[in-house]
Amino acid sequence: MQIIDWKLESRRFLFALLLMGAVGWLFSITAWLLFLTTFVYSGWLLFRIQRWHCSNSSLPVQRGGHWAEKQAAVDYLQDSFASTEDGTVMIDDTGAISWSNTAAEKLLGLRFPEHKSQKICDLINAPEFIRYFENRDYAGNLDMHSPNNGNFDLQLSIRYFGQGNRLLFARDVTETNRLQKMRTDFVANVSHELRTPLTVINGYLHTLADNGLEDEVRCQRAIQQMLGQAQRMESLIKDLIVLSRLESVPEVASQQLLSVRPMLELIRQEVMSAGHGERQIIIECDDSIQLQGNREELHSAFANLLMNAAKYTPEQGEIRLRWYEDKMGATLAVEDNGEGIEAHHIPRLTERFYRVDKSRSVETGGTGLGLAIVKYILIHHQAALHISSTLGEGSHFSCHFPRSRIFSSADAHS
Ligand code: ADP
Repeated sequence: MQIIDWKLESRRFLFALLLMGAVGWLFSITAWLLFLTTFVYSGWLLFRIQRWHCSNSSLPVQRGGHWAEKQAAVDYLQDSFASTEDGTVMIDDTGAISWSNTAAEKLLGLRFPEHKSQKICDLINAPEFIRYFENRDYAGNLDMHSPNNGNFDLQLSIRYFGQGNRLLFARDVTETNRLQKMRTDFVANVSHELRTPLTVINGYLHTLADNGLEDEVRCQRAIQQMLGQAQRMESLIKDLIVLSRLESVPEVASQQLLSVRPMLELIRQEVMSAGHGERQIIIECDDSIQLQGNREELHSAFANLLMNAAKYTPEQGEIRLRWYEDKMGATLAVEDNGEGIEAHHIPRLTERFYRVDKSRSVETGGTGLGLAIVKYILIHHQAALHISSTLGEGSHFSCHFPRSRIFSSADAHS
């Protein structure tokens, strides 16, 4: 848009000069009048230009277009970020909060509009955050605990937008970190579990290499020890393979309708022939209900529970295997009057490699993976494991199956 029509103005100026030149000539003050005309005309032009600038800067139509576009962009950003799971905060060039979403309240403790215009570094005053924010180099991310709740692990990132404005994103990475830690711990545990028997075998082999094979009694003892350790490694690897297979499939592949009693009797036989014959194992089974599931997996889960009960129950102790219908479906319970477990261990028993007493578990040939395997098998069957125990009195491990997994002959006849 043109502020001044210069052609018109030149004509006007020329006309004014001629007119004033003539008047000046009449009164012999031509030079003065021409100078005055030029001065006044230039002043008038400058005044018009200045007025146009002033009025233009407050002109609603002119300025509104630009402002409205900017506001629309900000509104669009706010709408997009309002319901995201990541905490999002808009910060102006002075470091004050101009907007934040609801997730920012949970993760960062920032409430909008209550904290609007407050400096972000006054509200998140962890030194690592202040250093990151004020550094103004946001190429990397910042990992920190939530200032609102120390149980949340956050990953923060900042991006510039507009003129000096910043967008702060806070992502909850608690679960990702937990899984990562689980993986690292798992690898460390497996390495440790395998290294221990290998070290023992190595030790015996070195002794045999140094001392020769003449002392038959010593040799026999060394071979027995090495055999025991090799078996321990074998069971560990076997359990690891089972666990990894269970984890890799979300559901059981083949399913059958199973009678529980024969399965329990077979397991009892196996446990007794594994050297736990002195314990009394009683089976109480409601034969009118059948269980739908994978025979191999269920056998493995129940056998693990019964083997544990036998391992942690002294000779002459009593173990009861019960299969019965209940309000939710049906339950397979393994109850013993053995050594029992202290309450604080119970929530962790199904973690891989978790043992109440490590040396005792190694002594009994345990891998620390048995209950983790049971848990996965039950998940495959939409069932849940409940554990209750009293130290010195005994333990109850019960597998609760939903109604959808059982078939009752009473139902069939009705
Ligand atoms: P393990 O191979 O060591 O038996 P599990 O995962 O089967 O590993 O069991 C984890 C731990 O739970 C065992 O080390 C043991 O301390 C405890 N536990 C399991 N069952 C019983 C039980 N019936 N009585 C007492 N403690 C038990």
